[in-house]
Amino acid sequence: MQYYNLKDSQEKVDFRTATIKGQGKNKGLFFPENLPSFNDEFIQNLQQYSDEEIAYQCMKDFVGDEIPSEILKKIVAETISFEIPLKKINDDILVLELFHGPTLAFKDIGAGFMSRCLSYFLENQQKKVTVLVATSGDTGGAVAHGFYDLPGIDVVILYPKNRVSPVQEKQLTALGKNIYALEVNGSFDDCQSLVKQAFSNEEINNQLFLTSANSINVARWLPQQIYYLLALKQWLKTENKAPVICVPSGNFGNICAGILAHLRGLPAEHFIAACNANDVIPEYLKTQNLKPKKSVATLSNAMDVGDPSNFVRILELFNKEFNPLKNKISGYSIDDQKTKETITEVYNRDHYILDPHSAVAFSSLEQYLKENPGKKGFILGTAHPVKFPDAVQNAIKTEIEIPQSLNALMKKEKKTVEINADFEELKRFLLDKN
Ligand SMILES: *Cc1c(COP(=O)(O)O)cnc(C)c1O
Repeated sequence: MQYYNLKDSQEKVDFRTATIKGQGKNKGLFFPENLPSFNDEFIQNLQQYSDEEIAYQCMKDFVGDEIPSEILKKIVAETISFEIPLKKINDDILVLELFHGPTLAFKDIGAGFMSRCLSYFLENQQKKVTVLVATSGDTGGAVAHGFYDLPGIDVVILYPKNRVSPVQEKQLTALGKNIYALEVNGSFDDCQSLVKQAFSNEEINNQLFLTSANSINVARWLPQQIYYLLALKQWLKTENKAPVICVPSGNFGNICAGILAHLRGLPAEHFIAACNANDVIPEYLKTQNLKPKKSVATLSNAMDVGDPSNFVRILELFNKEFNPLKNKISGYSIDDQKTKETITEVYNRDHYILDPHSAVAFSSLEQYLKENPGKKGFILGTAHPVKFPDAVQNAIKTEIEIPQSLNALMKKEKKTVEINADFEELKRFLLDKN
């Protein structure tokens, strides 16, 4: 499969290059040259396929012969090696729980697939590869776990001191081995700016093979289609009509993967982009006016994005035509007050604990179903409630149980190197580490 740059369609690369480079010239996103349809037989008989086979069928055309099929099968099997159940919340709304992976965030799946592909591609690299990533919380943990203990790869994570939750911090700092956590005296923007400087610094690039684990990487974006196939497989056990699918959205990579799967043949009645107060896309769907804004902080902080970078891929999927897009996707914006009320209500009424991101999705889908009676659907549960204990415990007035895997992690020691938001300090660390 070839991938072209959405900012310069002359630039075409294979899957390997797209995975290693992350993005193209002028920071353009890569996009697959064709969208291979699912076989009808495959979709109709989804329930007869194992999860691993479904994941392999989903990904194989995007990888082509660049990874031998036996190895790709192993990669996808390892990527989804935890349960991904579709659970009933009430008669009309189900939830696909994507948060049973190593860092309790749905990003584990994309990061897990990407890290395994990168490590395959870079196996015979002479130089040690350094994955450099800035995080505001969730991405860093998922990336760290994806690369943990892989030979020939170091991961250096920059995170803002005192600005990640206790669970997130342990996920970044307690692994050790090939994972290095730099605690930066500054903000997430400072971390990101340091990382960008490192990528453009000649001395560092001469001595180190640097690569990014950016969320727009095709190897992180495309495997997210698997969620939707695994959801449908379970949906069909009790339902016969196509589902309305509601996705808590920030950078719009996840929902974009769902729409891609749909255009390849996965049945879906409708898609809902559930946003918090950062409402650029719901506004666009109302006005046809795409106006990026500065992001505002909310309870569902992984969706605090004012200029969603994957939306260009959604536009491309619809050939940049507004009406077909609008007929397939609705947008809702849910504020923090409504998010809290939703967590409380769903807990009291349905005895289900939503995290703030999933609550935004639940509330959006509930509104849509009210406006469109007779339909049913599911939300994607993107984070475990224990990752956001303050907001959730406040809303349900009950302590939440910490899963066993986290108990062990919380007992581990935090190991970091503290640096100032000063490029020379990062540079010294990177060169000395090598
Ligand atoms: C990253 C994230 C999202 C948003 O996903 P996008 O693909 O960026 O739209 C939603 N919920 C949680 C918990 C996340 O970590």
